[in-house]
Amino acid sequence: PNPSDPPYLQGLNGPQRQAVLTTEGPVLMLAGAGTGKTAALTARLAHIMATRRAWPSEILAVTFTNKAAREMRERIGRMVGDVVEGMPWLGTFHSIAAKMLRRHAELVGLQSNFTILDTDDQLRVLKQLIQAEGLDEKRWPARQLAGLIDKWKNRGLVPADLDAADKEAYADGKGQHFYALYQARLKTLNACDFGDLLLHMLVILKTHRDVLEQYQERFKYILVDEYQDTNASQYLWLRLLAQQRKNICCVGDDDQSIYSWRGAEVANILRFEKDFPGATVIRLEQNYRSTPQILAAASALIAQNSGRLGKTLWTDLEPGDKLRVVGVWDGPEEARRIGEELESLQRRRVSLERAAILVRAQFQTREFEDRFIAIGMPYRIVGGFRFYERAEIRDALAYLRLVQSPADDLAFERIINTPKRGLGDKALARIHQFARHERTPLLHAASRITETDELTPQARRQLANFIAQMRSWQTKANELSHPELTQLILDESGYTAMLQADRSIEAAGRLENLSELVRAMEEYESLEAFLEHVSLVMDRDNNDTTETVTIMTIHAAKGLEFDHVFLAGWEDGVFPSQRSMDEGGTQSLEEERRLAYVAITRARQRASIYHAANRRIYGQWVSSIPSRFIAEIPPEHVDSENSFGGGQSLWRANWSAQGDPFAHVAANAAGRQPARTMTRGPAWQRATAQSSTITRAPAPSERGPAASVGAKARSD
Ligand code: ATP
Ligand code: MG
Repeated sequence: PNPSDPPYLQGLNGPQRQAVLTTEGPVLMLAGAGTGKTAALTARLAHIMATRRAWPSEILAVTFTNKAAREMRERIGRMVGDVVEGMPWLGTFHSIAAKMLRRHAELVGLQSNFTILDTDDQLRVLKQLIQAEGLDEKRWPARQLAGLIDKWKNRGLVPADLDAADKEAYADGKGQHFYALYQARLKTLNACDFGDLLLHMLVILKTHRDVLEQYQERFKYILVDEYQDTNASQYLWLRLLAQQRKNICCVGDDDQSIYSWRGAEVANILRFEKDFPGATVIRLEQNYRSTPQILAAASALIAQNSGRLGKTLWTDLEPGDKLRVVGVWDGPEEARRIGEELESLQRRRVSLERAAILVRAQFQTREFEDRFIAIGMPYRIVGGFRFYERAEIRDALAYLRLVQSPADDLAFERIINTPKRGLGDKALARIHQFARHERTPLLHAASRITETDELTPQARRQLANFIAQMRSWQTKANELSHPELTQLILDESGYTAMLQADRSIEAAGRLENLSELVRAMEEYESLEAFLEHVSLVMDRDNNDTTETVTIMTIHAAKGLEFDHVFLAGWEDGVFPSQRSMDEGGTQSLEEERRLAYVAITRARQRASIYHAANRRIYGQWVSSIPSRFIAEIPPEHVDSENSFGGGQSLWRANWSAQGDPFAHVAANAAGRQPARTMTRGPAWQRATAQSSTITRAPAPSERGPAASVGAKARSD
């Protein structure tokens, strides 16, 4: 380190400096979590600008999220300040591609003011096409087609590029036909979807030499963060742009590749050296983020994966605390315990901003939200909606509100066509008109209209059917418990079926959220009490000035760091997810393990892993076993405790019995229900499980000595 160094170089280690100063030629920075990859990439950008190697407009810098782009922009501002005017092309692949595409839209038959469709619009267009072609949408769901088209776009394939297997994937070989129809339809709408942003640009660069050369000339330097999660189309796009000047610097960590389900291909790292021969490969080994304890735990965990590029990590920080592994009785206790930990941080005047709760799946946030509302703990959900704001939850609540108060017109409007009941705009307009005229609620107006011949016979039938269902639910509201009623409504209305027909990952998450909703309701006396709770939660004002704890999925936490990290729900079936376990094979399990690695390495000072012995699945208490990943952390880096007696040895006993999670038969909590196999199948398999009215897991005292917990794991 040299005191005359510019500020952006100060404090960087040798390899980091090399990454900054090797501005010419291809550079691949391959290094583990927390080694300062993003820091070095940011300094490199500052260096290029400060030394005026290029104008800002001649630099292309790609981040994985918009948030990361904002942060990088701020840091650059601080590093080079007023030296340079203007900012580079800095953003996500999608935002950069959109900016480029606006300039060349006419080359793919769009106008520069094209609209970008969201998933809902996309589905609507696909459904229309499927219907127009006379295909049975139930048999060949639009969502399935949407998923395939996304996949093809991620791979950079236009309809003409599909191979036989791809074509076969939808409607007995009509995949290509529909893909082409869809693209044509978007053109007439002057619209494109997310995948098109990159795909169109890719096509333009491939087919218009002049445009390609213009950008190859323009972008003197290209920088890419989180390179391990690029998909094929992004990769091809980068390769085209960089092929001329070859000043491309990609930064990544194969162990943190966690988006293969979205088409990311970690092989892009390996391809880099082939496509850019003579690339300088820089490895960073010093971790500046985490204590040795945390680092050792994470390294041992990820070492279980095969096919890694492999790397060494070290740190010269103080050893720090071991990982805490906390066994709790059930989900509510998990939320309570973490809430207490946060309160204790507050008492020690540690800012809540320094803490985060990381979950594997969106539905897990609910328990924390409810608890934190109750104790007044300020929280923020990052990278997703708050639980009760999610579309499927709002839909379900709208059904319930309408059952409870038939005059709730907003609720009526929300769900009258969700799932689709074939009621067109005309029919709906007629209902509105009628309601206004008669000064009566929409539901009542709808009911009256079915007695007339104002609607088409089909619309009338659909509407009459819906109203009959509503009446039946209103009656049943007095007979069934409110969670049962909710489940019934979701099933009878066709809502569950709608999501089941949809094979996307998102739909599976939505089903999980709905079962979490049913579970949440069980904690309330009545439907009224529950709905009131929800309106209180929704009403909470979002005061941005207070310090808040962050709750987010591990996926959303990539690249971030926190002093205190709480890792919730480390149980087989939650994390690793049931889906990854069902799929068998090592691929998806290894991706889950990379997620676990990302999760632990977000922590600077302290990481606490929680696992509950009981989770409620569709109203039944099911015993859980701790995540297999916990057992993969060497005991010398772990402090175990659990809140209901038994101590470490107990949990060790559980771990050792984890061989095959499917052979494992969980002894039922207090023998109130027959023992059932602890299989958390996909929601559509579970959906038949009966709901029950038990509102909490039987306490330890009710189920005999704690040793029985260990016994359940040994029972097979
Ligand atoms: P991830 O793989 O999680 O994205 P990363 O490799 O990008 O991690 P950074 O986020 O850049 O790592 O850095 C991790 C932490 O280390 C940050 O707090 C950063 O400020 C700090 N850091 C990076 N380089 C140095 C250095 N040379 N000296 C001291 N601290 C550093
Ligand atoms: Mg980073």
